[in-house]
Amino acid sequence: MNLLPNLKTKPAQIDSMYEKLEERFGAVHCPLTYSQPHELCIAVILSAQCTDQRVNLVTPALFARFKTPAEFANADRIELEELIHSTGFYHNKARSIQGFAQSLVETHGGIVPNNMKDLVAMPGIGRKTANVVMQELYGLVDGIVVDTHVLRLSKLLKLTKHSDAVKVERDLIQAIPRKYWMNWSLYMIFLGRSCCTARKRNCNECILSNLCPSSTLKNGA
Ligand code: SF4
Repeated sequence: MNLLPNLKTKPAQIDSMYEKLEERFGAVHCPLTYSQPHELCIAVILSAQCTDQRVNLVTPALFARFKTPAEFANADRIELEELIHSTGFYHNKARSIQGFAQSLVETHGGIVPNNMKDLVAMPGIGRKTANVVMQELYGLVDGIVVDTHVLRLSKLLKLTKHSDAVKVERDLIQAIPRKYWMNWSLYMIFLGRSCCTARKRNCNECILSNLCPSSTLKNGA
């Protein structure tokens, strides 16, 4: 049964795309720097509306100042906000980080949960963060991480018509074979930062130019 009745991209194309992406980007890992599980969660919270590079510039001092989930939970809010200020939205992010840290200490004994249900029940943790955490920390795949690049590329590749991340993930889960879920998002992010940025689509240099329904080469646009 075709699970994508209104979309152009077919399963065989997905296989071919993944092959090309794997060939180009190889083994991938989360670009955020961390050394403890709770630090990854905090880094992902900070990465909302911010580049991974910026987060990686901020977290060394942050993780040196607050070393445990309990220290984050009890941190002075103003000091925490100052340390994360340059990642943007620092009031909300500080609140999320402290809510997450409190929940981690009080409900989970300091151990980051390894399942979607418990993760998304924690303050500051949405499906995107939960997916990253489960994949990176536990090698478990329960969904597909949808960030701004994945969202944009998914539309261009005709894998979804939606703009809402939850709906996009639902479409991707139907379209992308489970064996590809772990790497798919990172491959999309790498592509979205290189030849298919929000500002410019460089189809001439894109490895998916022969497979992408939005390719300007293919469409002769
Ligand atoms: S072919 Fe063009 S539109 Fe499609 S993913 Fe590549 S750069 Fe983007």
